[in-house]
Amino acid sequence: MESNNGRIPCRCLLAEAGEKELAQSIAEYVNTLDEDIRADEELYRERLRICGGCGRLLNGTCLKCGCYVEMRAAVITNRCPSEEKLW
Ligand code: SF4
Repeated sequence: MESNNGRIPCRCLLAEAGEKELAQSIAEYVNTLDEDIRADEELYRERLRICGGCGRLLNGTCLKCGCYVEMRAAVITNRCPSEEKLW
């Protein structure tokens, strides 16, 4: 996994990109979502696994839509914005 300690663009999630405060803020936001709109843990992890292998991921941001994927993936009705609909 590439590191972002030197602010080098990396194809990784925020939590892995050295953006600890932002990743923590997003995790706290995700925890505030009502259960009826929130993806369950298994689905959330699977979505993030797919994003982690996607060439459109850069420093936790989806280059297709501009969202932080750790935030986008948490809402059950959200979908991957790519033409391929990866999740
Ligand atoms: S295009 Fe889809 S799979 Fe790729 S980073 Fe964006 S949301 Fe994730």
